[in-house]
Amino acid sequence: MPATIIDGKALSKDIRASVKTQVSALKETYKNTPHLVVILVGEDPASQSYVRAKERACERAGIKSTKLTPDPSITEDELIDMVKKLNQDPDVHGILVQLPLPDHIDSNKVIDTIEQQKDVDGFHPLNIAALQIGTPGVLPATPKGILTMLKSIDIPLQGQKALIVGRSNIVGKPVAQLLLRNHATVTIAHSRTKDLKKECLDADILIAAAGRANMIKGDMIKEGAAIIDVGVNRVDGKLVGDVDFESAKEKAAFITPVPGGVGPMTIASLLQNTIECFEVLEKAKQ
Ligand code: NDP
Repeated sequence: MPATIIDGKALSKDIRASVKTQVSALKETYKNTPHLVVILVGEDPASQSYVRAKERACERAGIKSTKLTPDPSITEDELIDMVKKLNQDPDVHGILVQLPLPDHIDSNKVIDTIEQQKDVDGFHPLNIAALQIGTPGVLPATPKGILTMLKSIDIPLQGQKALIVGRSNIVGKPVAQLLLRNHATVTIAHSRTKDLKKECLDADILIAAAGRANMIKGDMIKEGAAIIDVGVNRVDGKLVGDVDFESAKEKAAFITPVPGGVGPMTIASLLQNTIECFEVLEKAKQ
């Protein structure tokens, strides 16, 4: 039987509606409006389109958003100063620096400058440490969205074999941590993994985050597995994931499409993070 599609678009719509309701209540409680500031440096078309989508989602949810677009020649120190000013602004509750930054800027240094409680992307070392240790912190948006999707299909995570293909700091590693926290048995594969097919065939849950178009085919998938495809690749002008959807859906029990899977969930999670940051910061003012 072909896999059930995990509809990230529909799920994210529900989350955005719930965020909107929460925003109204929070405005009432704190007499203030959640405010996300996005810094976009340069003219990378993908980044521009992600930022547009984030702004639109904020607007629809009743969250104020401001886009700062400094000149691409901005120095690292100037950008860091910009972030510091936003840290100090009591009416800014979330700061997001859209990556990648131009080569002359060390993105780690810039991210490290963001106040932990305004780090809506969950990339600050303190938030990464919190995820690792299991203490409260801001969860990175894409991994958080992936977990929400897995929980939405109500499959057990406990004791299941989960394989994550990709070990980046923004997707692979934090997803692994979240699955571990949920008692899955976790394996992380990467470009030096010896026998990727064998690892894939062993996985009850497979998260593909390598950025390689259609690299995971149906014959690499365990019958009945749940597949989350994080990959966003452009092939002949069309967006495709890391999983070959047509062959994979014949083997998997659940699968996410690209587009319409993880992407919308990332944005929904960002909105959730923004209002969580807002609430913590506003509570602290009282
Ligand atoms: P990175 O390029 O930072 O990391 C890719 C990872 O995949 C690396 O760990 C790399 O291994 C591994 N890898 C590459 N090729 C192979 C291979 N042939 N076999 C096994 N592993 C391989 O990517 P990101 O984590 O930033 O993103 C991954 C994908 O997810 C991209 O397509 C990106 O566009 C997408 N993405 C989507 C988001 C969404 O919201 N939908 C959000 C963020 C990312 P190694 O470490 O050895 O080099």
